Amino acid sequence: MSPTLRQQVLRNIPSVDEILSKQEMSDLLKIHPRTVVVEAIRRGLGRLREEILNQNDLSTLDETLFSYQNLLPLFQKEINLQVQPRLRRVINATGIVIHTNLGRAPLHPLALKQIVEVAKAYSNLEYDLARGERGDRYAHVEEILCHLSGAESALVVNNNAAAVLLCLNTLAEEREVIISRGELVEIGGAFRIPDVMKRSGATLKEVGTTNRTHLNDYQRAIGSESALLLKVHTSNFRVMGFTSEVPLDELVELGRKHHLPVMEDLGSGCFIDLVHYGLEKEPTVQEAIRTGVDLITISGDKLLGGPQAGIILGKKKFLDLTKANPLTRALRIDKLTLAALESTLLLYMDEKRAMAEIPALQMLGLNMRKLKGRAKRLLKRLQKKVGNKLQMTIKEDVSQVGGGALPLQKLPTIVLSIKSPGVSLNSLEKKLREIDPPIISRISKEELVFDMRTIFDEEIPLLAGGIEKVLSQ
Ligand SMILES: *Cc1c(COP(=O)(O)O)cnc(C)c1O
Repeated sequence: MSPTLRQQVLRNIPSVDEILSKQEMSDLLKIHPRTVVVEAIRRGLGRLREEILNQNDLSTLDETLFSYQNLLPLFQKEINLQVQPRLRRVINATGIVIHTNLGRAPLHPLALKQIVEVAKAYSNLEYDLARGERGDRYAHVEEILCHLSGAESALVVNNNAAAVLLCLNTLAEEREVIISRGELVEIGGAFRIPDVMKRSGATLKEVGTTNRTHLNDYQRAIGSESALLLKVHTSNFRVMGFTSEVPLDELVELGRKHHLPVMEDLGSGCFIDLVHYGLEKEPTVQEAIRTGVDLITISGDKLLGGPQAGIILGKKKFLDLTKANPLTRALRIDKLTLAALESTLLLYMDEKRAMAEIPALQMLGLNMRKLKGRAKRLLKRLQKKVGNKLQMTIKEDVSQVGGGALPLQKLPTIVLSIKSPGVSLNSLEKKLREIDPPIISRISKEELVFDMRTIFDEEIPLLAGGIEKVLSQ
């Protein structure tokens, strides 16, 4: 195609005003504000221009390119992009249960109900109903957190990163925090222990080596500037082989001897011993508290299965200091989160129920029979509608826990993998991300894979419908 011919095609693109004046646009203008429609036309034409510029073979494009039959869907798509929320529900077919990029833990229906209940009207967020006076925002969850964990006192803030920052600032500003070199980790999403430490105003005093740290490494580092002994759960990072770390209880004993508080950033925040459910060991909150540790911090939206929150548990003396820190106000938890967190925590009063019903935990516990059943239902739907276009196989694969918890745990799972002769997997994967609701899948060994573990039963028809839609595009 010659450059001049391309120029000619470009010149034929109608103007915004020309399009606006056309009868075909009146329906759109009836539904949407003029400014939205104008913007959609502008963006739609921009895309068309780009397409023409990038097209090598223009012979496939003819005058129908600028027909309203072709243009209207383009504008409609641009209108949708403007008026629909950008933050949307997606279908997670990746098999990563606590997927930080996909919003971590889905909430239990009771937590959702409580969010609506508290949000749609006024609430006793900071109002003491018994006394008829100002109350404490944090009191709503403190009692149940102490009950479940065995801690003396509790506080919740915006997220675990905030919890760590707040504790370090409260206990160690302008003083030293002693931590093992093996635990100076970066957790996904740019949370680096040394950086958070610096911002908290505390000074890092690293001891030991990357693979081995001993009790006397900590002991030798203790001096007049020491404020805190810190342990950090290394989450999605493991040093294997010739390794040694100091268990929390020994660190607590060392702290007692030297009158130094001891804190652990536990990360995931697991209240149930997963070993009882056939999974690998993840240290529980109760076990940590039982060592007599002064403070621990955990996330609300990892294995706990609740909303984004940072939970601080431990000795009353140190929690009182933390609560009095002005930073607490800046990092405070909002009422919707609090409503969801309290509802989620209440489910833990019955461990079996928590395991069976809290979505993240329930997904971890799914057995192969259940997963296979899902895959079969999906397969059946697809066979009926697009069986002739697809090669489909149900097979075994491996899911991940995610969120930095149980990094070595291999969760055997069932996936449906598909390929379609003549259709590129990359384009299929991309198109699935662009429909409503978007479907997030993964490409593995020349196939597109849908992991049944992280899909809800009620999403099977949506998933089948989405795949069908994309194949007919
Ligand atoms: C995930 C994690 C954090 C960060 O928690 P957020 O709730 O995402 O702020 C901090 N420390 C550890 C050990 C973690 O696993």
